[in-house]
Amino acid sequence: MPPITRRRFIRRAPLALSATALAAGCSPGTDSAAAEQPAATTGPGGPVIISTWRHGLAANEAAWANLQAGGSALDAAEAGVRVTEADPEVSTVGIGGRPDRDGIVTLDAAIMDGAGDCGSVLALQEILHPISVARRVMENTPHVMLAGEGAQQFAIAEGFPLTDLLTDAARVDWETWKRDNPGYRPPINVENHDTIGLLTLDRNGNIAAACTTSGAAFKYHGRVGDSPIVGAGLYADNNVGAATATGWGEAVVRACGSFLVVELMRQGHSPTDACRLAVERVIEKNPDWREIQVGFIALDKQGNTGGYCIHPNFDYAVYTESEGNRMVVPGSKVPSDE
Ligand code: ASP
Repeated sequence: MPPITRRRFIRRAPLALSATALAAGCSPGTDSAAAEQPAATTGPGGPVIISTWRHGLAANEAAWANLQAGGSALDAAEAGVRVTEADPEVSTVGIGGRPDRDGIVTLDAAIMDGAGDCGSVLALQEILHPISVARRVMENTPHVMLAGEGAQQFAIAEGFPLTDLLTDAARVDWETWKRDNPGYRPPINVENHDTIGLLTLDRNGNIAAACTTSGAAFKYHGRVGDSPIVGAGLYADNNVGAATATGWGEAVVRACGSFLVVELMRQGHSPTDACRLAVERVIEKNPDWREIQVGFIALDKQGNTGGYCIHPNFDYAVYTESEGNRMVVPGSKVPSDE
């Protein structure tokens, strides 16, 4: 057995405590909603990979190859989104991501496994693979989140090189935006959000989630969205499934979106239904919902997948053994002809 690291000890301690509580005669709480609506018991099983937007296809390929090579759900999730982070053509993730209103690219990322371990980085600058730094936060520190300068110091100490992330195309976009926006106020709209969120289920029934983004284009310097916030941008639980979000992060945070999707699946809703109900919650909490896009995707522990969004311009990529890697267009609150 490998030696128990400090991190693993911290993670296991609550398990030991609940075992003690059970031995002392305490019974675990029951979920009445779950009792009324049993969760789906059938599905394709693993491996399954699902990720946001069309750039999810390439991410899924890498995640799938990682699983085939013996990687875990967590390894595959990290490997998948690294592809998007390294693609300078993707203007919403990693290198090539649009900068904030001061012309600085700041990246947010989070990773989580189905046992509940997680790590994230916020407003990280000049690091090509924030998702891998987030994983190091999870595995090599007693913390869950590192932000800004401290996150960068940690990344450098872990051996990550500094990289200029502002591409010429992103700089031109920023200069155009500055010229056209003398008020210097970042826009809320439905087109600027294309985070990669990727969920994996491996053959052993383990689930993981990864989410990485350059955030809202031309945001205030220091702004952090939903993506690196566990429960908002992503959530994973081996007992239920996983979810991740894309779109206007502020709206997702207000609804604790991804955690909500997973909890709705825990109560027996299918991945699609859970995403739809979570979108309805987002709408309830955000009076400006017609001006913003939010989309969720979800995967349950049986391998069923689904998604839902406010506006119809969202799609996602699903990779299964039987159907290969394909795009799916989910339902939306606003009909496509509106
Ligand atoms: N959710 C991300 C954010 O608000 C943006 C996105 O989905 O692209 O930072």
